[in-house]
Amino acid sequence: MTKSGSAVKVLFVTTELAPFSKVGGLGDVAGSLPKALRQAGVDVRVVTPAWPGVLEKAAAAGLKTTTVKTKVYAAYDWRIHKAEVIKAEVKGVPTYFLKAEDYTGDMYPSQLNFWTASPFAVFCMQALELKDAIDWEPDIYHCHDWTSAFLPCALAWHRHYRQTGGKSIMTLHNVAYQGIFEPSPFLEASGLEPWSFSSSTMEFYGQVNLLKGGIVAASAVSTVSPTYANEIQTYESTRELSGILYQQRSKLRGILNGLDVKFWDPAGDKEIPAKFTVKDLKGKAACKRELLSRAGLDPNTEAPVIVCVSRLVEQKGFDMVFSAASQIAETGAKLLILGSGNDWIENGIMQASEAYPQSIKLFKGYDEPLSHLMYAGGDIFLMPSVFEPCGLSQMISMRYGTVPVVREVGGLRDTVFDVDRPEGGNGFTFQTCDAEGMMWALRRAVDRYNNDKTAWKKIMLEGMHEDFTWDKSAGLYKDMYEDLMQ
Ligand code: ADP
Repeated sequence: MTKSGSAVKVLFVTTELAPFSKVGGLGDVAGSLPKALRQAGVDVRVVTPAWPGVLEKAAAAGLKTTTVKTKVYAAYDWRIHKAEVIKAEVKGVPTYFLKAEDYTGDMYPSQLNFWTASPFAVFCMQALELKDAIDWEPDIYHCHDWTSAFLPCALAWHRHYRQTGGKSIMTLHNVAYQGIFEPSPFLEASGLEPWSFSSSTMEFYGQVNLLKGGIVAASAVSTVSPTYANEIQTYESTRELSGILYQQRSKLRGILNGLDVKFWDPAGDKEIPAKFTVKDLKGKAACKRELLSRAGLDPNTEAPVIVCVSRLVEQKGFDMVFSAASQIAETGAKLLILGSGNDWIENGIMQASEAYPQSIKLFKGYDEPLSHLMYAGGDIFLMPSVFEPCGLSQMISMRYGTVPVVREVGGLRDTVFDVDRPEGGNGFTFQTCDAEGMMWALRRAVDRYNNDKTAWKKIMLEGMHEDFTWDKSAGLYKDMYEDLMQ
């Protein structure tokens, strides 16, 4: 509630929105948290760019859209950038897709410079202008990652927007991506005051760092798990940015992500060949058979199936996986990986699968329906991340009775607890960030699966019973909004 007793009005400013423009966890969060916030009594709405294909996907999903009469205009780089506003209700949340020529290129550029970063600055300014077109003014702009970090910067340092007195929250889904590029001609073109480019604000070793600017400028900062909130204040985790995060720690909170538990539900999932529940697990065996057939392996194998669904980036620890390829093959387990990303990781996995074709398989690419089959058909979910802000995949896997093996880091540490602790747990964990550490946990998992089916079922059920709804975390976000309104 605000001081006047009305619901807090929050505009979610996000460049990803599941299921229309999801790249990773941010898309999932933007596609599920707002609904939970509305249920908690927050007047939240979402604005997002209509990247190529987004409106087509929305139409294919049967979403009813209307074009708002008034367009939004933002002044940037000595030009007026116009966007059409397409309104829709997504899971009961008023959502505004901005359609503009700024969003006709690739969603995320591979090289960041003034020109490739500009659509993100324009998007933030158009989000600030949206209020007039829709006749609804947010109390708080809730921004996510570097791609909307220009918005808090604009509210603090832009020659026009800093007069408006708007409040903003910056949520850090992954501090590894910061939006760093050359300052020229951004500083002149963006409308930010020149003093916004100093070591205590947006400047970072001679470059612009949008995320740093957003963290300093925002009224409050949150990140997606309590452990990650602590880790990012250390040099080991975030290098040169750690000092800023430490300085800003009084406005930093760690709030664990939840899941869209209706969407990720083995009892109702349309993408899997047989449904299953805590009470009746039979369907899981059919999913395993289907998955093994898709991989070209014997569908009736007794061996445990280890699955990974992941972006293939350094963060996810795949170098541990391919250095341990022979040891994984020796356990007799099957390892199936679904992912796309860096060539060197794809090549490393391909080489491992050529060396052990009966044990290791890569499904290359981004494939949402197959990801569901992987979660449902696997026995073990492997996630040996070097760092992990929250991680959703381990939670999804637990919903589907697939036991996680994870490194004890970030949100993995807050959600997966080793079964061999005296108090028991829901998975297998390790600390040392190398192949031996990973194999120590993975071998324990494979042995338990092979030798103690009763214990295994207990671990599966432990995970399936976990509460991954947004309810608790939505309440914590609401507290954060209300604290800002005091
Ligand atoms: P991150 O945000 O770092 O990518 P998360 O675990 O938080 O990691 O979220 C990853 C999300 O993206 C999960 O929903 C996962 O299922 C999905 N995902 C990742 N890679 C793929 C892929 N290749 N195909 C389908 N879904 C994927």
